[in-house]
Amino acid sequence: MKRTQDAALRARALKVIPNGMYGHESVRMLPDSFPQFFSRAEGAYIWDADGNRYLDFMCAYGPSLLGYRDARVEAAARAQAELGDTLTGPSPLMVELAETLVSMVEHADWAMFCKNGTDATTMAMSSARAQTGKRIVLVAQGAYHGAAPWCTPIRAGTVPEDRAHVRTYGYNDVASLEAGVAAAGDDLAAIFASPFRHDAFIDQEAPDPAYARRARELCDETGAMLIVDEVRAGFRLARGSSWSDLGVQPDLSAWGKCFANGHPISALLGSDRCREGAGAIYATGSFWLSAVPMAAAIETLRIIRETDYIEHSVVLGERLRTGLDAAAAKHGFTLRQTGPVQMPQIMFEGDPDFRVGYGWAEEMLARGIYMHPWHNMFLCAAMTEADIDATLAAADAAFAAVAERRGMLEPHPILVMLAAAQAEHA
Ligand code: PMP
Repeated sequence: MKRTQDAALRARALKVIPNGMYGHESVRMLPDSFPQFFSRAEGAYIWDADGNRYLDFMCAYGPSLLGYRDARVEAAARAQAELGDTLTGPSPLMVELAETLVSMVEHADWAMFCKNGTDATTMAMSSARAQTGKRIVLVAQGAYHGAAPWCTPIRAGTVPEDRAHVRTYGYNDVASLEAGVAAAGDDLAAIFASPFRHDAFIDQEAPDPAYARRARELCDETGAMLIVDEVRAGFRLARGSSWSDLGVQPDLSAWGKCFANGHPISALLGSDRCREGAGAIYATGSFWLSAVPMAAAIETLRIIRETDYIEHSVVLGERLRTGLDAAAAKHGFTLRQTGPVQMPQIMFEGDPDFRVGYGWAEEMLARGIYMHPWHNMFLCAAMTEADIDATLAAADAAFAAVAERRGMLEPHPILVMLAAAQAEHA
């Protein structure tokens, strides 16, 4: 595969962008062959800067739900763009979008809009503190809630005071949650939870209903707010709140990524229990009220309500999971495939330093399939059975190639560095 444009762009980027790229969209922690820059996308496919095409199992790390450039969503966005986007105040669409989300998400009595997931999770925290007058928030160890100082996984540039009142518990671990609540005394503002455990580098875990229910009870007993971070999983598991089928309703939920199918918008939804707190905080951003993403969101939410996009991606996800297990076994590998099938995490048994996973991802990429070795992936509604079958054919060849190279595979240097740093702190 040709990579000359990507290489040239990276060299230019190194001069004008710190490290050439930042955040988890930097490919520094991916196999060396992964391209950094993409020039276009359509449906389930992305093209890198050199014109190489990939079937994209990352879906922009979540935002592509229906497929890139979905014609229905783009038409709605274009129609609004003809009228105006970022104006002196919100367009009437803001009210319609809030009504739409309130009608779809069971616990929601109100909505506020912002741009990124971090905006929504941070507003959730501030609203909970404003509502309760208390300080401590409990978050699950290792859960990602965004890039702000209170939650970033990388501590550079933060000070301990930024998270002085942020404490951790173990996801699905009722005893540790209870201990965290007890230790907070009468200063507990909120408990954060993800719809399922979707942390990077580890097997994914479904929520234990007993854990979800206990989190609700503890909030009821203490007056704290239960916050579900739906940024990554929202509308991929259900057409409303992800914990509704567990019978657990949060007080606040943070949404982002996919509900405008890639257009930039996120939301904080809440119940009347936290309306006053949400109304008390100062919340705004120059682009938070832009009308084009709201038009895109209203159309995406209509498609969410009216089509079988979830069922379609579940069928494809099951086909992928079963097919990959069989292909792996044929070549002497055992996969650990966890998480909902439409948001799969794929890792290799007996591969603690990820060298086999990296090798396989590299072989898949060379065959036009973009997969991630340590982050959960996403299926989108634009994928077809033929796409999954093409993936399985590529996988068969990729497993064979990795089996051949197995003795020569090395762990990625950055992972080695991280593991060493972790061991030092342990
Ligand atoms: N919460 C979760 C669960 C996420 O997955 C993410 C993004 N990966 C965020 C919050 C932060 O969202 P954003 O990157 O849009 O700020």
